[in-house]
Amino acid sequence: MQVNIRRWVKELKKQKDEPVCAYMHDLPSLESHIKSMASILPQKTRLFYAIKANPDPKILETLLPHVDGFEVASLGELQRVRHVSAEIPVLFGGPGKKEYELEQALQTGISYIHVESLLELQKLIHVATRMDIDTNILLRVNLHDHTLPVTNVTMAGKPSPFGMDEWNIEEALAILQDSENTHVHFQGFHFHSLSNNMHADRHMEMILLYMEKVEEWKQKFNVEVRVVNVGGGFGVSYDDKPSFDWERFTTLFKRSGMHHRLGKTKLFFEPGRYIVADCAYYAAEVIDLKPSMNQNFAILRGGTHHQRLPASWGHDHPFSIISIDDQQWKYDFERPGINNGSVTLVGELCSPKDRFHSEAKIKQLRVGDIVVFEKSGAYSWTISHHDFLGHPYPDFLYKEEGMKDEPSTVSLTSNER
Ligand SMILES: *Cc1c(COP(=O)(O)O)cnc(C)c1O
Repeated sequence: MQVNIRRWVKELKKQKDEPVCAYMHDLPSLESHIKSMASILPQKTRLFYAIKANPDPKILETLLPHVDGFEVASLGELQRVRHVSAEIPVLFGGPGKKEYELEQALQTGISYIHVESLLELQKLIHVATRMDIDTNILLRVNLHDHTLPVTNVTMAGKPSPFGMDEWNIEEALAILQDSENTHVHFQGFHFHSLSNNMHADRHMEMILLYMEKVEEWKQKFNVEVRVVNVGGGFGVSYDDKPSFDWERFTTLFKRSGMHHRLGKTKLFFEPGRYIVADCAYYAAEVIDLKPSMNQNFAILRGGTHHQRLPASWGHDHPFSIISIDDQQWKYDFERPGINNGSVTLVGELCSPKDRFHSEAKIKQLRVGDIVVFEKSGAYSWTISHHDFLGHPYPDFLYKEEGMKDEPSTVSLTSNER
C-alpha cells in the first residue's frame, strides 16, 4: 500500500465524528498507470476503457486525455461519457439493446455499435433507415474454439448470451448487403471472450486465434475488415500471484509481426478492470470484535452493499490495517483487540454473505482500527446493492494532482451519492 493512503486514512479518522467508511481514489496514480499503458501501446492498436468497471465521473475525466475512447453498454453509461466529453469516440455494446437505445445511440453519434444478434442487426437497420442516419458496426462473435483460455469469468467458447455463433456470420453479412440497407456499415468483428486473464502469453495466443479466424472470414466472405476489437479481460490478482503483465503482452504483440499482419486494419483493446482496479481503496472502521465458538469476527462499518466483489467471487480480499491510537478511544471501558491471531472480516449487514476475508492472520486488530481494502477500483461500488438494509453510503474521496501528502494539507472532498 502507498504510504500516503495510510496518512490519508488517519487524517480522515481525525476529521470524522462517525466511524470511517469511505472510498478513497488515488487519481494521480490512475493517471500515471494509464499513461504508462498508453505509452507502450503497439502500432495500429487503440485503447478504449470499458466504463462498467467503474463509471465514476472523476475517473472518466482522469482517463479522458489518455484513451482513444470509451466502451458503454447502456444509455446510462453513454450519458456518463457524454457528460465528460461530447466528442470522445464511443463503442456501444451489450446484449438486448432496445429500440430506444439504438435510436439514442444513432442520435448521439457512436463510433461503432457492437451487434450481438441477427435480430438486433435487423432492428438496427430498421431504426437507422427510419431515422436516415448512418452508423458503423462490428459483429460480436462467440468463437467455438476449445483452445480459448478459461478464467473465472468466461463469456465465449461455450453457449452464451453474448454475440452470435460463427456460423451466423454469413447470414449477418447477407442482411447487411441487402439492397434495402444503405445506412448500417459493416466494419469488422468484436470478441470479448473472458475476463481476468492473468497470462500474457495465453492472451496473445487468443488474439492470434482471433486474427486467424478474421483472415479466414475475410477470404470466405470477401469482405473488408477495418477493425478487430479483441475486448478486455486483462487480469488483476487478488492474492499474491502476479497480475497480468501488460508490458510483456505488448512486447509479445510487437514481436509477433502483428503490425504487418494487420495491414490497414485497426485493432482495439477495451479493458475495464486492469485500468482501474488499483486506483481506489475501500476503508471501513472496526465497530465490534468478538469470538464465536473458535473463530474471531471483526464487524466493520461497511460491507457488500458497498464492496460486493469479494462476496461475488468468493475470494478473500487483500487488505491492510491502519492502527488508530488508544487516545482516540473515547470510552472508559476496555477497547477490545486481538494480537497475533486470526480474524474473519465481515460487514454490518444481517446476512452471512456479507464477508470480505475469512480467518485472516493478523498481528493486531482493535475496535476503532481501520481496515483498508486495496484493489477496490474495479467492479466494486458499481456492482453493489447500495440500499439493502438502508445504511448510509460511504464518503467518496479523491486525491487529485497537486494535493500534498502531509496530513495537515490533504484536502478531502466528499460527495454523497
Ligand atoms: C466487461 C466488458 C469489458 C471489460 O472487461 P474487463 O474484464 O474488465 O477488462 C470489455 N468488453 C466487453 C464487451 C465487456 O462486456
